[in-house]
Amino acid sequence: MDLAAEIRALVGDRGLLTGDDVRMRSCDPFRNVPPEGPLIVRPASTEELSAVMRLCHERGQCVVTHGGRTGVAGGAFVGADEIAISLERMNVIEEICPVTSLAVVGAGVTIEALQNAAAAQGLFYPIDLGAKGTATIGGSIATNAGGNRVLRWGMTRQNVLGLEAVLADGTVVSAMNRLIKNNTGYDVKQVFIGAEGTTGIVTRAVMRLVPALASQSVAFVAVDSEQALLDLLGRARKLPTLSAFEVMWPDYYDLVAASGTDRRPLAQGRHAYVLIEAMGYDRELDAQVFEAFLESVYTDGLVVDAVLAASDKQIAELWRVREGAECIVREMSPFVSSDVSLDVRDVSRFVDLVRSGLAEHYPIVRTATFGHLGDNNIHLALHVGPDTLAQEPNVERIMFDALRTFGGALTAEHGIGQFKRAFLPDHKHPGEMTVMGAVRAALDPAGLLNRDVLF
Ligand SMILES: Cc1cc2nc3c(=O)[nH]c(=O)nc-3n(C[C@H](O)[C@H](O)[C@H](O)COP(=O)(O)OP(=O)(O)OC[C@H]3O[C@@H](n4cnc5c(N)ncnc54)[C@H](O)[C@@H]3O)c2cc1C
Repeated sequence: MDLAAEIRALVGDRGLLTGDDVRMRSCDPFRNVPPEGPLIVRPASTEELSAVMRLCHERGQCVVTHGGRTGVAGGAFVGADEIAISLERMNVIEEICPVTSLAVVGAGVTIEALQNAAAAQGLFYPIDLGAKGTATIGGSIATNAGGNRVLRWGMTRQNVLGLEAVLADGTVVSAMNRLIKNNTGYDVKQVFIGAEGTTGIVTRAVMRLVPALASQSVAFVAVDSEQALLDLLGRARKLPTLSAFEVMWPDYYDLVAASGTDRRPLAQGRHAYVLIEAMGYDRELDAQVFEAFLESVYTDGLVVDAVLAASDKQIAELWRVREGAECIVREMSPFVSSDVSLDVRDVSRFVDLVRSGLAEHYPIVRTATFGHLGDNNIHLALHVGPDTLAQEPNVERIMFDALRTFGGALTAEHGIGQFKRAFLPDHKHPGEMTVMGAVRAALDPAGLLNRDVLF
C-alpha cells in the first residue's frame, strides 16, 4: 500500500485531501502559495493523529502542521517531499467553565470561535488579532501569538494553562493542567508554546479566560512629537483599565486614510496617531476615568487632536483604522513585512536608519509603520519596487542590521518560520541555540516536524 492509502485507512476519506483540494489552498495569507506536497491529512482526533504520526515516523515522512494558515513567517509552507497535517477537524469547544474561568478546546478552534463561546458564558478570551476569524488556538500557541491587548493580558503563553500534543513518533503528551498554580516538575507545555510546531503537534488546550468586560472606551489621538508619544505612553500605562496602545505613523495612516473618509478620523500631517483602549468592569466610572485621562493629556499638550468613540459602531470604526493590513496589501504589494521588538525610545531612529539604508540601494522606498508600541513591538512593511520579493534577503539584511545596533528582537510575535531562519543565529546567543537544538533533537531526532522552520 502506498502512503496515501495507508493514511486513508487511518483517517477515512474525509481525513485526506489530494489533487486540486490540496493545490487550491494557500500556505500564506497574503499570497497564493499552494502546498508543493501531495497530501493534506485532516485527523478528527488525537488518536487518529497519533496513528498517522506513528506511520510517518516509520516511513521517515516529514510533515508540516497547518492551523488557519494565517501565519506570516512562512511556517506553514509545505515542500514537495512533505505532507501537511491540518487540525481543522479538531475544532470542538469541549468546555467553558465560568467558575474556574477556563476553556478546553481542540487545537483547530479559531480564536474568534473561542471568544464567542466565552462571551456566551459571560467570559472573555483576551487574545485578539486581525486574523482571529481564521487563526486557530493551536497555531496561536505554536507561534505564541500576541495581538492587540498584550500589555494588559499578556501573550498566548500567559493564557495557556495546559495542552496536549502529539510527538513526531506518535507519542501523546497530555499536559492538560487546569490549575493556575502547579509546580509539579517541569512545566512541559512550555516546550510546545512558541516552538512553531518543531517539538510536537498541539491537539487540545486549556485556555485561561477572564470575566467579560463591562466597558470599552476607545480614543483616537494625534501627537506632534516623539517625546509627546513616549510621555503619552507613560501616562496611559497608569490607567488601570488600559488594554491597548496602538501607534500608527503617517506612512501607515496616510495609506489607510486614503481608502475612505470612514478610516480618517483625524486630519493627516501629525507626527503619529494612537488608538488608546481601556476596558473595565464599571461602565460609568471607567468612562469618567478615561475621559479625565484624555482631558489631562490634552490640557498638558501631549495630545493635539483627538476623537472619543461614542458607540460600539464608532469603536469598531476606529479599530478598522488600525487593522488596515488589506490597504498595505492593495497599495504596497509586493512588500516585505516585519514585526520587530525594540526599546520604545529607539523606534523612530530605527525606522529612519532602515529607510536611509534602503535608499542607498533602491530609488523607490515605501514604508508603512504601525504596531503595538505599548509592548515594544512595531510592524514595518517595506516596498522597494516591483521586484521587492526578489530583493527580500537584502532588504531584510539592511533592516536586521539596523535592528542589531539597537539590540532589538528579530520577531516580537510572528515567529521565525522559514522566512527569518537565516537570521536567527545572529540574534540568539550560541548557548541558546545549543539548548534549542538539544530540545528539538530529543523530541524529534529524525527531524520530521516542520523541518525547514526556525533553525
Ligand atoms: C491580518 C493578519 C493579522 C495578524 N495579526 C497578528 C497579531 O496581531 N499578532 C500575532 O501574533 N500574529 C498576527 N498574525 C499572524 C497569525 O495570525 C498568527 O501567527 C497566528 O497565531 C497563526 O495561527 P494559525 O492557526 O493561522 O497558524 P498557521 O499559520 O497555520 O501556522 C503557524 C505556525 O504554527 C504551526 N502550527 C499551526 N498549528 C499548529 C499546531 N496545532 N501544533 C503545532 N504547530 C502548529 C505551523 O506549522 C506554522 O509553523 C496576523 C496575521 C494576519 C493575516
